[in-house]
Amino acid sequence: MSKLVIVGTVAFDAIETPFGKTDKILGGAATFIGLAASHFDVDAAAVSVVGGDFPQEYLDLLVNKNINIEGVEIVKDGKTFFWSGKYHNDMNSRDTLATELNVLEHFNPVVPEAYQDAEVVMLGNLHPLTQQSVLDQMTKKPKLTILDTMNFWMDIALDDLHAVIKNIDVITINDEEARQLTGEYSLVVAARKIHDMGPKYVVIKKGEHGALLFHNDHMFYAPALPLEEVFDPTGAGDTFAGGFAGYLAKTEDYSFENMKNAVIYGSTLASFCVEKFGTERMQNISKDDVEYRLKEFKRLTQFNIELS
Ligand code: AMP
Repeated sequence: MSKLVIVGTVAFDAIETPFGKTDKILGGAATFIGLAASHFDVDAAAVSVVGGDFPQEYLDLLVNKNINIEGVEIVKDGKTFFWSGKYHNDMNSRDTLATELNVLEHFNPVVPEAYQDAEVVMLGNLHPLTQQSVLDQMTKKPKLTILDTMNFWMDIALDDLHAVIKNIDVITINDEEARQLTGEYSLVVAARKIHDMGPKYVVIKKGEHGALLFHNDHMFYAPALPLEEVFDPTGAGDTFAGGFAGYLAKTEDYSFENMKNAVIYGSTLASFCVEKFGTERMQNISKDDVEYRLKEFKRLTQFNIELS
């Protein structure tokens, strides 16, 4: 079974959408990635940090999903990373109301020894120096390294981000951030520029408009599944990344062709994430639920036009 190292925040989120508002609930990039990856037969380990204020039941939740948390440091007298965001009416864009780094500020990630030879490394949203430090701890070159990031780190640590981006295979980034990183409006041109920065594969997430996968001159597009109910898009990007990474780790096939399937799995899992606030929906998805949606996806995107 492949090993998958997941790095990212394990956090408290407070979210406001047109449908309601939450107090501090479980969130964080590594949390969503881990919950999505837990749908695949992989040996996953989270590397992160929380404060003494973080409830044991949240940690238990990750353990119950078979995620190893040896690498989740608990700083007893520290406070957990806190993020708060408010969505606009279209739910496709949001404002960050607060980002309190707290224990993240002095975080030195430690990859448990048993995972230093992992086949796949998923560098979730975190300071680029932290992401690089995890890469540096791998004793064997991973078969695949994937990095996700966001505008926050572009704003405060752009040089460090460029340095780590050089060393990874796949970047997953949303459309707005791809434009910010490259200064290009066209996503095709932006993807090409990001290729030139290092990654051989570029995934651009477009929220409810799906995701694009680029590899040199090859391109693949998957729409997002049109849903009746969208309550809270928080974590959809991370869920996508977790599904993408989990599927590739499970199948051990890191080709462009197989990455297309990984994009579909990522999109399918993300379609559940948005249906309830925070991680709620992600905690209770069955294999059948996933299969049913994959079939829907297939129906949605297949057509037969006779071409001569
Ligand atoms: P997404 O909606 O996929 O972009 O991810 C939202 C998650 O990212 C939330 O659960 C937050 O806790 C987490 N998050 C927000 N800002 C940051 C940041 N600057 N660094 C790391 N994680 C963050």
